[in-house]
Amino acid sequence: MIEPKKIWRPNNVKDAWEIQTNLKPSEYCFVSGGTWLRTQWEADLKEMPSNLISLEQIHEMKEVKESLSFGRREISVGSQVTLANCIKHPLLSEYLSPLVEACRQIAAPSIRNVATIGGNIYTASGDTIPAFLIHNARMHWFNGKQMETELMEEWLIGLQANEWRRDQRILIDISVEIDERSNDDFSFFQKVGRRETFTASLVTVAGKGKINKEGTFQEVSLAAGGGPIPLRLSHTESELQNTEGSEDLFETIFPMITKEFNATSDPFATSNYKKTTVANLIISELFEQWDGNGGVSNVAGS
Ligand SMILES: Cc1cc2nc3c(=O)[nH]c(=O)nc-3n(C[C@H](O)[C@H](O)[C@H](O)COP(=O)(O)OP(=O)(O)OC[C@H]3O[C@@H](n4cnc5c(N)ncnc54)[C@H](O)[C@@H]3O)c2cc1C
Repeated sequence: MIEPKKIWRPNNVKDAWEIQTNLKPSEYCFVSGGTWLRTQWEADLKEMPSNLISLEQIHEMKEVKESLSFGRREISVGSQVTLANCIKHPLLSEYLSPLVEACRQIAAPSIRNVATIGGNIYTASGDTIPAFLIHNARMHWFNGKQMETELMEEWLIGLQANEWRRDQRILIDISVEIDERSNDDFSFFQKVGRRETFTASLVTVAGKGKINKEGTFQEVSLAAGGGPIPLRLSHTESELQNTEGSEDLFETIFPMITKEFNATSDPFATSNYKKTTVANLIISELFEQWDGNGGVSNVAGS
């Protein structure tokens, strides 16, 4: 017999929190778009609890906003913003283009119309995570009493260390600091999956940085997903800082990336395959920036 489920639709965060205070963790779950949850329930990987607390009526979590924080400009993306709305948003297209590209490459339009940024991140393996990590994104949570702020990278490391046990908090939004764009800036997002779209990715990479007229890399941030958790590649970033692009540099960083990126094997790809793919994707993006800046011809002409 199918047990009747109670679906709650609070219109503010405090009410959403209140509903679960008298329930055991096994008796409820928060639902955003429900696309990930539905696949878990249908595949019997998770049991559908008797109370579903939908967050979709909470309008304050559906906005993309720009604000000033301690004199710094920042963009916050509400956890209920759908992937489709991220793709259309002019602020995100201008300042967070890797995030827009990540959303564009997730599933089919029908899923993207309901799937949210919060749900994608909360799974800890969503394709949007590397695109946030390169911006040192901060997550803002409601814990029942107050708001908490946590670096996304620290949240991911904590999850892995605690064997994926999640505390019960509501993710409100994710914020990143932004700078004025300059001609030296570059950014990218790449995904390799088993097919073009509709399937989970094997690996994802995101990057941003600057390359000046002399072909020197600065402030490069790199992140990759496809391992236990998506993470920044900080050793490779340090090697690139203030270093002039050259074929030698790319040869040096290739093994650095394969060493630093902690991939896991799965039924579809070995960890070595994923490491090599991530290194190739990153190097081809950096090479393109350097070459587009006169890289190879500068060397040939010098
Ligand atoms: C056909 C198909 C293809 C897919 N392809 C991809 C893909 O290519 N790349 C990819 O990354 N993902 C993919 N997904 C997975 C998934 O749809 C997306 O990750 C989606 O963004 C999840 O968002 P959602 O709003 O539907 O999350 P939900 O299913 O509503 O929730 C996911 C989890 O997050 C929790 N949660 C949601 N919001 C909050 C919140 N605000 N606070 C606290 N907890 C919260 C829920 O309790 C649940 O545990 C695919 C799914 C399907 C069905």
